[in-house]
Amino acid sequence: MSTLIYNCTAVLMDEAHTVLPGACVTVEGRKISSVGTARPDGSFDETVDAGGGILMPGLVNAHTHIPMTLMRGYGDGHALQEWLNDYIFPVEAKLDDRAVRAGSDLALCELIASGVTTIADMYMFCDTIAQEVVASGINANIARGTTLFTDNFDFKTYPACVELRELVDRWHGYQDGQILIDACIHGEYTSRPALWEALAQYAADRKLGMHIHVSETKTEHEECKGRWGATPIQTLDRYGVWDVRAIAAHCVWTTPEDWALMAEKGVSAVHNPASNLKLGSGVAPVVEMRQAGVNVCLGTDGVSSNNSHDLFEDMKLAALLQAGTRCDPLALSAWDALEMATVDGARALGRNTGRIEAGRDADLILLDASAPNLIPCHNAASNLVYAAHGSNVTMNMARGQVIYKNGEFFTIDLERVKREVAEYALPRLFG
Ligand SMILES: [Zn+2]
Repeated sequence: MSTLIYNCTAVLMDEAHTVLPGACVTVEGRKISSVGTARPDGSFDETVDAGGGILMPGLVNAHTHIPMTLMRGYGDGHALQEWLNDYIFPVEAKLDDRAVRAGSDLALCELIASGVTTIADMYMFCDTIAQEVVASGINANIARGTTLFTDNFDFKTYPACVELRELVDRWHGYQDGQILIDACIHGEYTSRPALWEALAQYAADRKLGMHIHVSETKTEHEECKGRWGATPIQTLDRYGVWDVRAIAAHCVWTTPEDWALMAEKGVSAVHNPASNLKLGSGVAPVVEMRQAGVNVCLGTDGVSSNNSHDLFEDMKLAALLQAGTRCDPLALSAWDALEMATVDGARALGRNTGRIEAGRDADLILLDASAPNLIPCHNAASNLVYAAHGSNVTMNMARGQVIYKNGEFFTIDLERVKREVAEYALPRLFG
């Protein structure tokens, strides 16, 4: 399968910050094969007239929990502990495979339509999530959120660890890396050292990544220091947790010592600005982490605490928050925010995407530059971060396959998903 995309302005996300008007991009199979301004010779299975739109790499949403889309707006207006204990946990206890499938599909529709081609997901029912992601056509790092509240632990028999090993055997590297399985500690505050040690060892042995919630709230961060005499980043380091490629979601309360350690170990921070604001968790020190050499990428977090999967919103928030809280409009540029949502996310997830260049995965999205909110365009990066919405996305190509175009989904039956959510999942969870 070969495709030629022409008549677009391509934002390459390369180190030279290239914005290429009149671009022609070709795709062979799952890879980008050429980028330039001259229309290449030869014939293509498919040609896409981009209509003068903006072509950019597909977005990387590096931290979410897709089935939680079913809980959009549920329990809003309550403090974190009350929200979790009285609303989210009782609903999660009613989830079953079919409801997770419906919630995941709903999330995937929203993600695809707003330009995401790769996610890092942390949840339960991961086999079902992997099946739905594969069918949707996008890429995912999937992590089985694992907690441990007892000292009685055996990695061989602990159910979540059994599930992890089955997931790795069945899915890790599936279809040339469409699915990667990451090891996962839900958080320092929801687990014990025996789990950290065992998962760190297993991840190192199997060359898996690691996905963890870290220092999201001040309480969590301070209580960890009280328990272990060190911050979550430093505590987990004692057990080898950061010795593999790792993503640490939130990092709102991390310290300069944490950043030095993260930079040394190559731990990526995932910034989730909308979720952090909505739950009153604070504003992550994105500028300081980047200055310390930490790779910082971007996520929406679950829709239950966002309440949207539109990563364009989080890009804008990321840039505005750093500028506003520092009284410095240049603190985090539009290009910086775009990098976080593309190439930095790709690095965090161990993936060859996030940039338009020959040899990279053909994960590409097109935005309608003729939309009123994108006129005029003095600077494409600025328009993408400060003016664009996910709804400006007109095409989503993941792994070389067009999976969405002009409101139409080619891999998911949206009407069936809506029916399944309305007639099965919502009645099951909410009565
Ligand atoms: Zn989360």
